[in-house]
Amino acid sequence: MQEEKLYNTLCCTIETWIMEYNFCPKCGNEAERKLYNLLVCKNCGYDFYINPSPTNAVILENSKGEILLIKRKFEPKKGYLDLPGGFVESGESLEESSLREVKEELGINIPAVKYFGSYPDEYLFQGINIKTLGFVLTGKIPDGEIITASDDAEEPTFYKKEDLPVEKLAFESLRQGLRDYLKQKLTVSPAT
Ligand SMILES: [Zn+2]
Repeated sequence: MQEEKLYNTLCCTIETWIMEYNFCPKCGNEAERKLYNLLVCKNCGYDFYINPSPTNAVILENSKGEILLIKRKFEPKKGYLDLPGGFVESGESLEESSLREVKEELGINIPAVKYFGSYPDEYLFQGINIKTLGFVLTGKIPDGEIITASDDAEEPTFYKKEDLPVEKLAFESLRQGLRDYLKQKLTVSPAT
């Protein structure tokens, strides 16, 4: 546990440190950082704003009110628990991308998703720490749907809300989203 903590701390520090875009996406020459989110090309003057990439993650419940988690099959955070979801692709709405990811990762069609909240985060991909904006949505799994994990997900498992291992999820945006969701859903009875 201690080692995991140390690794996470080191990992985050290194991620922040190595994350740099250095070149102009327009002409390929060296660019200079003017603001935390702005690079300006030294050659052509192009202003390159580093905006967050939107992602989706869906809190899926079955008819018993249990929540589905999957395990990540690939890096980053291989082996960590996760919610079904992924990056929003160009041309997709947030809702369309969520339904697509659910279909790809679980092989099921769900009728709809509902916006829950959004959380800024980071995603280390091929040496670049991508800034993301994690959208958390909710959805219901209709009875009779057969879940088959595929794509980058494995071991789909339902958890009772009381037993959800929130702290074992791969990304802070999802941990925060689930904490907020559970706060709304779980009624804490006052100590007597
Ligand atoms: Zn340029």
